[in-house]
Amino acid sequence: MNTLLQTPIEYLKGVGPQRAQLLKKEARIFTYADLLHYYPFRYVDRSHFHKVNQLATLEGYAQLKGNIISVNEAGTGRAKRLTAKFGDETGVIDLVWFKGANWIKKKLTPGVTLIVYGKAKKYGANWNISHPELEFELQTAGESKFQPVYRSGELLSAKGLNAKGFAKLTANLVPQIKGKIPENLPLTVLRKYGLISKEEALINIHLPLTTDLAKRAQFRLKFEELFFLQLELLMRKQITAAKNVGYAFEEVGDVFTTFYEHHIPFELTGAQKRVLKEIRADVKQPVQMNRLLQGDVGSGKTLVALLSMLFAVGNGFQAALMAPTEILAIQHYEGISELLEKMDVKVALLTGSTKTKARRELHEGLESGEIDILIGTHALIEPKVKFKNLGIAVIDEQHRFGVAQRAKLQKKNIHPPHVLVMTATPIPRTLAMTFYGDLDVSVIDELPPGRKPIETQHRYEKSRPLVWKFMKDQITKGRQIYVVYPLIEESESMDYLNLMDGYESIMRSFPRPEYQISIVHGKMKPEDKEYEMRRFVNGETQIMVATTVIEVGVNVPNASMMIIESAERFGLSQLHQLRGRVGRGAEKSYCTLMTGNKLSKEGKRRLETMVETNDGFKISEVDLELRGPGDIMGTQQSGLLELAIADLATDGQIVGIARECARDILKNDPKLANTHHHAIRDKLRRILKSKPNWGKIA
Ligand code: ADP
Ligand code: MG
Repeated sequence: MNTLLQTPIEYLKGVGPQRAQLLKKEARIFTYADLLHYYPFRYVDRSHFHKVNQLATLEGYAQLKGNIISVNEAGTGRAKRLTAKFGDETGVIDLVWFKGANWIKKKLTPGVTLIVYGKAKKYGANWNISHPELEFELQTAGESKFQPVYRSGELLSAKGLNAKGFAKLTANLVPQIKGKIPENLPLTVLRKYGLISKEEALINIHLPLTTDLAKRAQFRLKFEELFFLQLELLMRKQITAAKNVGYAFEEVGDVFTTFYEHHIPFELTGAQKRVLKEIRADVKQPVQMNRLLQGDVGSGKTLVALLSMLFAVGNGFQAALMAPTEILAIQHYEGISELLEKMDVKVALLTGSTKTKARRELHEGLESGEIDILIGTHALIEPKVKFKNLGIAVIDEQHRFGVAQRAKLQKKNIHPPHVLVMTATPIPRTLAMTFYGDLDVSVIDELPPGRKPIETQHRYEKSRPLVWKFMKDQITKGRQIYVVYPLIEESESMDYLNLMDGYESIMRSFPRPEYQISIVHGKMKPEDKEYEMRRFVNGETQIMVATTVIEVGVNVPNASMMIIESAERFGLSQLHQLRGRVGRGAEKSYCTLMTGNKLSKEGKRRLETMVETNDGFKISEVDLELRGPGDIMGTQQSGLLELAIADLATDGQIVGIARECARDILKNDPKLANTHHHAIRDKLRRILKSKPNWGKIA
């Protein structure tokens, strides 16, 4: 081990016992190495200055260097205000403080030279900057021109360890490390991706001489961090694959071929074909498939699921398709039974409401192997349900990710069946690559031909009469409409009131018997919910008033309008899911986002994004940018998100190349036995030892 790097932090010049305590507690910095890896999050460039006479052409922030000319205090108490005249050789501006004036006044001696940074505004003929950042210690020649800015906190700042205090510490440490930092990436990788060495990177991340060097240092360190993360994921996957013996469906099989040649209702899209090939390649191998299929709403995942199940049936295995709700299970059952009508494949349905007698027969049919495909809800993974020979299980619309369910499936046969998880909630590629390291990912990125894009509008409350008129027009044309209200746990009772208010006012404007209205929400008994849903599905009602319970999977092709009330309260992915309930038929569909007048900046961005695009992947990228990866994936896997320098929301491109690089290395040297790979192997071993296997517990 490198002894210099392991030196306790108290030995560094400028630290001492008190600060050392604080650094350990507040920043988890125990050693020199920890401080070296405490990276600045931005830099200020104190080498370029604007001039006062340039302010008019500048937009926003200015950095000026000059002198204090005079200081003037006016007003008393809360109205107190401090103004300083500040000038360079081209002109004079005012610096203004409304708060903290006493403290600043002490530092502003006329004649003193300083740097001022802030947003310049013009009042009448004069420019001013209110509450500027000030810097009195001007740089001396030869010193780095870029100043790193480090994260700090109140306690740290109180002991002089603010952003600048940290900069002094790293400035003391960095010159000592020259020649002491071993490289941990293979030379070939450095060359191929144009990376600077680890030592250069550590020096330049803290004390860059130019912006370019700072950028290269950041890139190298981000790459390294993401590379080891990807290497870890791929290695774990390798280990799992070696353990997970599965069933090989050796033949494509007659069942598949007959269906594909004679009964398939339409030509597969290019994307469906590609994904099907990926699945075929997996199930041919005696290794359990674990594949995530992402495809936007309406992209035709069900057909891919069916074809995959037919591979199993043709090879003498059974198949199961699990849906999150009863309605959806019934829809799949009806749709798939119809598609297989002319084929000799036995399909059965199992849900929570399957009666005891039917259930008993079903159990027998499954154990004897008479049933080929079982479709149902969670009921089908209960231990009581036993198969003769389950070969593949498909889990539909599972965006909250069923590792627990996958675990239950493992026990349904001697070897675990192949698993295909389908989701319409697109996960940005970066996250999919990072979180589903133990899954392969397929993407259907193409909609079946002839789809008309859904037209989305944002409307304020005052336009409600127009919206209702439009609804009436749609109903006259024979269409159906969803009206969705938010229901959020924290404000549940208020939300129910709003829902019922809305329902009543819709009933007044859309009176019976001309109009029939369904209502569905979480407080209803399941059978009442089912009943109301059915009425809408069967076209007996024209309007469905609901909370988000309808979010998942329902298919009513005749529904052509979706109205989302208080749309600003929904997240982007939820809005997109809801909108996906329409646009499933031949008719042009509409989505109207109703909001109040007050919108946050973020809320506005969400609505604009919805109006702009129907593309789920684009929407998921914006979502990632707005919410960050932690919120999207939930906190369960948050350990994975503790990255020191890379940012999954903005460094997607680097994730991609780091993964490619890790994959190339493992492909040629799966055990990292090559001497050039020993440095990465050793580091990877330490990583695998220090982290729990989250892939198994997630
Ligand atoms: P999702 O991916 O949202 O589950 P579905 O599987 O429900 O989408 O498919 C949506 C609709 O598109 C269905 O009505 C289905 O019959 C139809 N469909 C699927 N594949 C094709 C295709 N290749 N060409 C035309 N229509 C298709
Ligand atoms: Mg579906």
